[in-house]
Order: sequence, then C-alpha cells, then structure tokens
Amino acid sequence: MVRNLYSKQKWSIEDASELYGINNWGAGYFSVDESGDVVVTPFGSDHGPRISLYKVAREIEERGFSMPVLLRIENILGSQIKLLHETFRKAIKENNYQGEYKGVFPIKVNQQEQVIEAISQFGKDYGHGLEAGSKPELIAAISMMKNRDACLICNGYKDEEFIDLGLYAVSMGFKVFFVIEVPGEVDLIIERSKHLNIRPHLGLRIKLSTQAEGLWSHSGGDASVFGLGMSHIVTVVDRLKEENMLDCLQLLHYHIGSQIPNIRDIRAGAIEACRFYEELIKEGAPMGYLDLGGGLAVDYDGSHTDHHSSRNYTMEEYCTDIVDSVVSVLDKNNIPHPTLITESGRATVAYYSLLLFNILDVSSFLPPPIPEKMPESTNDLLENLLATYKMISPKDIQECLNDVLFYKSQARQLFKHGQITIRERALAENLVQHILIELSEVSRHMKQIPRGLQNINRMVYDIYYGNFSLFQSLPDVWAIDQIMPVMPIHRLKEAPTHPAIISDITCDCDGKIDKFPDPYNEKRNIMLHELLPDEDYYLGVFLVGAYQETLGDLHNLFGDTNVISINVNQDGSYQFIREVEGDSVADVLAFVEYDVRSMKNRLKKIAEESIQLGLITAKDRKAIIESFTAGLRGYTYFEKD
Ligand SMILES: *Cc1c(COP(=O)(O)O)cnc(C)c1O
Repeated sequence: MVRNLYSKQKWSIEDASELYGINNWGAGYFSVDESGDVVVTPFGSDHGPRISLYKVAREIEERGFSMPVLLRIENILGSQIKLLHETFRKAIKENNYQGEYKGVFPIKVNQQEQVIEAISQFGKDYGHGLEAGSKPELIAAISMMKNRDACLICNGYKDEEFIDLGLYAVSMGFKVFFVIEVPGEVDLIIERSKHLNIRPHLGLRIKLSTQAEGLWSHSGGDASVFGLGMSHIVTVVDRLKEENMLDCLQLLHYHIGSQIPNIRDIRAGAIEACRFYEELIKEGAPMGYLDLGGGLAVDYDGSHTDHHSSRNYTMEEYCTDIVDSVVSVLDKNNIPHPTLITESGRATVAYYSLLLFNILDVSSFLPPPIPEKMPESTNDLLENLLATYKMISPKDIQECLNDVLFYKSQARQLFKHGQITIRERALAENLVQHILIELSEVSRHMKQIPRGLQNINRMVYDIYYGNFSLFQSLPDVWAIDQIMPVMPIHRLKEAPTHPAIISDITCDCDGKIDKFPDPYNEKRNIMLHELLPDEDYYLGVFLVGAYQETLGDLHNLFGDTNVISINVNQDGSYQFIREVEGDSVADVLAFVEYDVRSMKNRLKKIAEESIQLGLITAKDRKAIIESFTAGLRGYTYFEKD
C-alpha cells in the first residue's frame, strides 16, 4: 500500500473534518463527532440530537439488509422546507414586500412516493405545493395534495386527459395553474374548460434571454426548447382576450436551469421576468403570481464559489436578491407585488439521502519491494532507474520526474523491439512506481509544489472497490461530472493513510469516483484508511437525494439498492420507518424480459444432458439447481455470507 503520508503528524477529528470538507458541504446536517463517526443533525448542528451514521449502518445490517443501502433521513426534508419558507419570510419582511411566498416541489426531482408524501406532509403548514410536468406526475400530485391553499403547477405538454384532470382538481378547490409552454396548448385548454364548465387559472412560461452558467445552462436562454417567445406571448394574450378569458391569466413562469452557481444569473433572470410581468399587467391580465422556477443550487463541493458543483451565495442571499430584484422593477411603475413561487427541487431533497456502502477490496499501487541486487542485464535501463530512485530529494525533484518519465517510455520501446525480457520490463515498472511514490511523498511535504509536478500526486493512488454501482446510484457523477461529497463514516479519529480512488463493482472503467470536493480545486483522489482484517469499512456518498434515485440504470444488471428511511425524534431516539428491499437478480432479469421459469427449465435440461454425458452426477445436478435458484433470489450486489 502507499506509504503512510500523515503518520508523522498528530491527527484529530478537526483534521478529518477539514480533509473531507464536511463542515463546508454538510450544511449543518453532517459533521464528525468526538468518537470519529459521521453524525447527522437533522434539526441543525447547534441544537437537537446527533445520530451516528456508523451506528445506523450497523443496525441496518443487523436487521438483515446488505450494503449498499440508500439511507433517507426524513426530518431533513422538513428542515429544508422550513428553512426555505422562513428565509423567504424574513427577506419579505426586511424588504417590506407586500406579497407572500409559496413554494412548490417539482416531482421530477425525486418522484418516489414516500418523498412526495413526506414533502406534502411537512409542507402542509407552509402551503408548500407540487409541480407536475407530466400526466403521471399530475396524478401523483393530486392524490398527495394536503392543503388547498398550496399551489399545484402544471408544466409540460398537456393532452386532453392531462387538462381534464387538472380542471377536476380545480373544481375540488385546488389552486391549479396550467402553465402554457407552447402556443398550441391554449386552444385545447379553452375547449376543455368550456366543455367541463370549469374556469382554469393560467400561467405563461416565458423564454428569458438570461442564460445561467453551469451544467444546465441549455435549459434557459433564447435557444431553450421550453417557453414562449415574444410573438407567442402576444398571440396567446390575444387568443385569451378573444375568448374573454384574459382574467384567467394570473401567473408568469420561467426556469433558466438547475444548479445555478452564480447569484448574478438569478438576479438577472428575476429582473428580466419582471419586465414581462409588468407588460402582461399593462395588457390587462390580472396576474398576481410570479413563478421563478428552480435553480437554487446545492454546494456539493463546499467551495462556496461559482464552480458548477457549488454556489456563490447562501439561501439568505438567494431569497433577498429575488425579493429585492422584484421590488426594484415593479415599484417603478407602482405594480402590486405578486405572490412569489419557486420550484426548488434539488435544494429541497439533496441533503436528505445518502448512499452507504462497504469496501470489498483494495488494489494497491505499491509494487513489490526493490530487489537487493539488480539482475544481470544487457542494457543499463535498470541501473539508471535505480540511480534515479536514489537521487530523489526536494532539490532534484523536477529532474527525477523528467528522468523517470523518459525511462518509462524507454522500457516500453525496448520491450517492443525485443531488447529486454518480460522480467526486466516488470522490474523496470516496479522501479518506476517506487520512484513516483517517492516523488509524490516528497512533493506533498513541499511548501510550493513546482508546476508539472502537481500531477504526480494524481498518479499515485490505491483503488478501493466499493459495493455499489455508479450507474444505478450516482448517475450524475458518471453522466455530467457532478461532484458529490464522499467520505468514510467512521474511524475519523485515525489518520487516513492511503490516497485512493473509488471504483464500483460494475466492470466498466467509467464506474469510478475520482473527483472529490475541495475548496480550491477538484481533488483527484481521497485519503482513506487501511482496511482492517475483521472490520468492515463503510463510506457514505452524501447529498444524493436529488435526481439520482430514478435516473439510475441497470448497467451490468445491478438493480435498485435497499432503501431505509429513518425518522429522528427530538430526544435522540429514531425509528426505521420505511424499508424497501432492493431488486433481486430475478427482478432485474425480468426487467430485461427474461422469463425466470423458462431459464430454470433450460438449465435443468442442460444439467440433465450433462448427467447423460457422464460429466456430473445426479447429486451435482441438485446442487447446481439449488445454487442457481438461490442466485435468482439474491441481491444484485455483493453479499456477505
Ligand atoms: C427541473 C425543474 C425544476 C427543478 O429545478 P431545481 O434546480 O432542481 O430546483 C423546476 N422547474 C422546472 C420547470 C424544471 O424543469
């Protein structure tokens, strides 16, 4: 294994917190306690109970659930909704804003029933509503609404069934808004509302020219596929006037993208939208609601910058800047302040779930020791490498790096042309690795690491194999290079000694985590602890509640993980309130259209033939069939005996 880089220093839990940045990205929900465990504080870091995640992980296993497990801490949903509403209320009060704030949760960000149920329960007292972008989401939303004052925003393309459902919800007293995304929708809405004799509340989704930076910048701007352009807006307004339905137009909506890292873009979007709002009032629409969409970002890397995995603003600044921008535009023309709506999905749910997994194995970077004596060789490659190894010092570090890279490629050439044997090449590579480790070691202790050398620390790491599938559980890490915080959930009183990257158990070379949060830079490896022979080593990937859960795929047929939810009480006790067993092997095979029964029949036939051919005995056949059947029932991930 790579050498003990921190062993000389004294190590404390403060060092661990700093190394993994947990106090930067933890948002007051996650920290390290004195015994070296990661703890969750669902009611905030300064009050309320602290629960050790390591303890929870072990209790989950005692109950017979295998890792990996998606752990949800339901209270955090409540805390985030409360925080959003209270922060907006404060900004409204401080800015003497005359309207109120109403949030909605966009179902697409996490459609799981228990999530929507929990959000509408926690949000009931705040009038927190839901946003639906499709028929199934609308159906889910209607069945979950618990407060008639809360809004139900209907985005997306709407067919007759969708519109009828929404209108029926209106007739039952719900505040449903049909947001017109394409001009063609208007006629259908008018027709259905006449037919059912239910008057709709309408909204317009506009295209802003404001474009946010970040990974989702294409959602906004002139080229966005969603929303109405200028001439469409005019057409829709005229159409409504014709039908005597302009009084139905009450809401203006825009969405410039998710995870907006820069507050400047949020401000610019609000200011631009207010101009449209103002014009629609001048056109004679009553309005009253301004829906600013999603975009409130999560500081995944804890850097508090405009990096795409972060945000350069706090929740207070977000709320204050929105309120202030709206006031600044509308007060000029004495336009009454609208009710503000935001559709924060990511920031509402990201914190409340985390992925727990165990490490199965480690592949060490450290090569076998250098032999006492170099074997006889026909050329001086090995001698040169050995000389380089002995020469390493902070002063000569750059020269040594140049040399080792040169000899490394020389070894490749010599082998290709038959001038060294496989044993000589192996020894050369062994020496190269020793040299790189030594260079890395020396450079880590230097105050100023020379440019060109900064990369070597990236080359020296162990591979820790984690019992999870990146494609199933963390699709954004793979697909869009999202950085998610990851760290061990215990042993944090000990110094971690191994620079590492984390590989999953799919046999795909993309199935790895090799970017880690860092306040200054992306870190390409993470320090982890030495595996102990008789103790499991658990890691957590945090802030995975938004978008990850239903986007995941069945790469290599790894299925859904086990899901456990806990609810923490004020006295520090907690209950396991829901558990959903992950997919079995038979489940995932059925997803890709295998018929388990006929598979088993085919295997029986093959086994029977093998008996006839004298390859196995009847008893062997029994064992084979049993093992096959047990395999079908099993979890798709690595199970301990
Ligand atoms: C995806 C989406 C959201 C959610 O955005 P977040 O950044 O997750 O808050 C809100 N509104 C619309 C229309 C969306 O498409």
